[in-house]
Amino acid sequence: MAAEIHSRPQTSRPVLLNKIEGHSDGVNAAVLIPKEDGVITVSEDRTIRVWLKRDSGQFWPSIYHTVSSPCSCMSYHHDSRRIFIGQDNGAIVEFLISEDFNKMNHVKTYPAHQNRVSDMVFSLESEWVVSTGQDKSVSWMCTESGSMLGRHYFSSWASCLQYDQETQHAFVGDYSGQITLLKLERQTYSIITTLKGHEGSIGALWWDPVQKLLFSGASDHSVIMWDIGGRKGRTLLLQGHHERVQAVRYLQLTRQLLTCSVDGGITVWNMDTQREEAPQWLDSDSCQKCEQPFFWNIKQMWDSRTIGLRQHHCRKCGQAVCAKCSSKRSTFPLMGFEFQVRVCDSCFDTIKEEDRTALATFHEGKHNIAHMDIDPSRGLMVTCGSDRIVKMHFLLLFNRQSRLRLQKWFTPVSERYKRKVIRDMTMMVVGRPARSCNFLQWRDLKIVYKRYASLYFCVGMESEDNELLTLEVLHRYVEMLDKYFGNVCELDLIFNFEKAYYILDEFLMGGEVLETSKIDIGVAIEDADVLQETLEEYMSKPTY
Ligand SMILES: [Zn+2]
Ligand SMILES: [Zn+2]
Repeated sequence: MAAEIHSRPQTSRPVLLNKIEGHSDGVNAAVLIPKEDGVITVSEDRTIRVWLKRDSGQFWPSIYHTVSSPCSCMSYHHDSRRIFIGQDNGAIVEFLISEDFNKMNHVKTYPAHQNRVSDMVFSLESEWVVSTGQDKSVSWMCTESGSMLGRHYFSSWASCLQYDQETQHAFVGDYSGQITLLKLERQTYSIITTLKGHEGSIGALWWDPVQKLLFSGASDHSVIMWDIGGRKGRTLLLQGHHERVQAVRYLQLTRQLLTCSVDGGITVWNMDTQREEAPQWLDSDSCQKCEQPFFWNIKQMWDSRTIGLRQHHCRKCGQAVCAKCSSKRSTFPLMGFEFQVRVCDSCFDTIKEEDRTALATFHEGKHNIAHMDIDPSRGLMVTCGSDRIVKMHFLLLFNRQSRLRLQKWFTPVSERYKRKVIRDMTMMVVGRPARSCNFLQWRDLKIVYKRYASLYFCVGMESEDNELLTLEVLHRYVEMLDKYFGNVCELDLIFNFEKAYYILDEFLMGGEVLETSKIDIGVAIEDADVLQETLEEYMSKPTY
């Protein structure tokens, strides 16, 4: 429920300058006011607020305006001081902000959509406001007459929008993962093309009118750069997030691409290097390396009397290979793979050590980012979203003899780091006398542990998070284990470790609490058990 201001993302690490709090619900959009120490926020709590930095160094609201419905997005034009707010009820309201940012007057209300407005752009040149909504449409309205000029319906929710003022082209991303390019005219429009490449809903778009590049971020954790101006259909895939990408911004001067994801990850991509296009995945009925058949290739399986294998793809050459021929993992930043991906054995040998140098830097946004705005000239960035309750890095269960019984890592770390953590934790925690404090400091993490019978439950988390709440989270996990196993003991976890992981996965996701209801989690585990039993029964039946 906060908006945060970071400084100079392009030079080195972003530094947190201010945190603006006070919203009673999620903030859906925040923009920096140019040449002014100010931020405008619109929120789910139906308020529009203009925050100015006071002499004390704190941001205080100078405008606090409540509207009839939750605010979902905004478009602010600084020179004319006109601001357009999209609402949950489908309406767009226009206000005029006074020069001194102390007053805001209502100008017009536009009945743009039947449902929540998802994104919007105001163009002063054409006096248009273009908007997308959850009624699956894009509409454009005249701000002089207030009348609707045109509307186009898609087959799914339209989630984000970019608009090129000069050529009147609109890019609309939707929930099916498609991006549609439309040419808008006064009364009519035409569809130029649809861009297909994402496997999940589009979360954010950014259009660079100078280099004619379109950037899209989606719920499949990936970012794609579409070279529209090149007209060759060149696309670059960028994989450097572990969660839904929600905000994308390209800085033309420094040729950097900033992307933010819902888990708070901020990735800065260096777009000034030669990057390669990732290959198309090839289709084959047998492994293209060892020629063993895949499991649907019944004929060859029968002919060679072998069992079919699962199909995988090498990310570097795109060949269809079996698991045996692609046992290695590697990063390959030239193709946008900043994390380790599957490569075939021959490709693995061709990747040199210098090819593995990262072409992006990764930063932590401290909260779940829903929206972002940047002022490159001042090096300021504002992000908004919801605060995390507790963000865990890892959860370990071990006994008094330092035997590890369960481990769960919520952040990507190396095997070496894991071994170091396990060694340090067991040593530090087991050696502590009874009745000593349950909280420890280890490097930049806070360690919270609690002993239940013979087992220690140990959590590493960020130092600004609440340790008492973490103890409660641990206790809830123990309660769930207790409910499932009936008075849980160490042996239960040894012989049914997969159930302990199941329960944990239902309860925690990405280091955050997903579900607190014991009943709901019990139902989910029961369902999983029933499914497993039915399958076992089915598999053990003789086939004729
Ligand atoms: Zn093979
Ligand atoms: Zn390969």
